[in-house]
Amino acid sequence: MSQLLSAFRHAALPAAAQAFRAEVREFLRSSWTPPAPQVRARSWMGFDADFSRKLAQRGWVGVTLPRAYGGASLDAFSRFVLVEELLAAGAPVGAHWIADRQSGPLILKFGTEEQRRFYLPKICAAEAFFCIGMSEPNAGSDLASVGSRAVRAEGGWRLNGRKIWTTNAHHSHYMIALVRTSGEPADRQKGLSQFIVDLKLPGITIRPIRDLAGDAHFNEVFFDNVLLPDDALVGEEGAGWAQVNAELAFERSGPERIYSSIVLLEHWIACLRGTPEAARHAETIGRLATHLATLRGMSIAVTTKLVQGESPVVEAALVKDIGTTFEQSIPVIVEAAVGADPANPPDADLLQAVAYLAQVAPTFSLRGGTREILRGMIARGLGLR
Ligand SMILES: Cc1cc2nc3c(=O)[nH]c(=O)nc-3n(C[C@H](O)[C@H](O)[C@H](O)COP(=O)(O)OP(=O)(O)OC[C@H]3O[C@@H](n4cnc5c(N)ncnc54)[C@H](O)[C@@H]3O)c2cc1C
Repeated sequence: MSQLLSAFRHAALPAAAQAFRAEVREFLRSSWTPPAPQVRARSWMGFDADFSRKLAQRGWVGVTLPRAYGGASLDAFSRFVLVEELLAAGAPVGAHWIADRQSGPLILKFGTEEQRRFYLPKICAAEAFFCIGMSEPNAGSDLASVGSRAVRAEGGWRLNGRKIWTTNAHHSHYMIALVRTSGEPADRQKGLSQFIVDLKLPGITIRPIRDLAGDAHFNEVFFDNVLLPDDALVGEEGAGWAQVNAELAFERSGPERIYSSIVLLEHWIACLRGTPEAARHAETIGRLATHLATLRGMSIAVTTKLVQGESPVVEAALVKDIGTTFEQSIPVIVEAAVGADPANPPDADLLQAVAYLAQVAPTFSLRGGTREILRGMIARGLGLR
């Protein structure tokens, strides 16, 4: 058996995390009125600051951050359960999502004590929302060719450049931006640094980009001579590449990469339940359930490695690649099933949810690193490159 496959050791969620699941379900039942399936299908794109604040009041934003900074000091298993339940319900998690998953852990790991004390309690209270400024028009898959530049100036750093595809920049308080502080884009990974950019600073323009489904959740962000204070630098100057890779490991390893179409699948099953057509689709639904269970098991195996302090970068890439293929298959399968039976007009909510997901599903394998890039990483893990 290859080294990569043997790296997936069967793992189960501990009892404490399973018990936590009941608490999350009860919170959702008592504190949130689920909207129509086509709204819930937006799951982690859904932006609702009030919902995030309610979650924060329960201590569930920044769950893995230490109590000393306002977090819940829970482990990655509890976060897995929380994320799984929120996504399965289609709860609007977009407001706090990025800070919870990436920016908070990044500041905890690489930030100064002052930065931790300033930002982490705000993240845990859902008072500070973050966005990720990695991609640029010429730096997406080839992230090392970032060209935005910060140069030393009196009182801090002068930032010029442009970011693109920045999810929720228009709603966020801060961006963690990867920019060049020395050398040229041709120098690749060398000379990159990360800054916490206060998006209210003069010189910043945020322009929404409308997507195929009519939503405007990502943006272009322009920096025109923006003066960043000295303490905006996160971690070491020039160490941005290593830091960003640690951050991407958080981004790729959770259950987030399996559940984007789950509301649609659940609603389709709900529509079929008790109808004469149900038997016709039983095999398809059984196959999807088997794929989901296997992927979930792989994702729990990755989480177990994270809890043990390992860095399962290649395993996480594999889960993301197969997981996004699974997420993308659901709208295709449901659309075909709904269209195959003209005698039974489909439920209107089902039709809207499938129409939405069919349009956005291509993005599932783009965000967080494209399929081809992940496969390159997996090939390297197998010793093929
Ligand atoms: C919904 C959504 C939200 C996003 N949110 C954010 C965000 O908040 N912040 C942020 O910074 N970015 C964000 N992104 C950007 C995302 O990370 C990039 O789109 C992604 O990294 C791909 O980069 P690109 O678009 O420049 O494509 P390119 O890098 O130009 O790639 C185009 C195609 O070429 C292929 N390709 C490129 N290089 C290779 C290679 N070496 N070998 C084989 N094939 C290759 C790619 O796989 C892809 O199919 C988001 C994207 C989406 C779709």
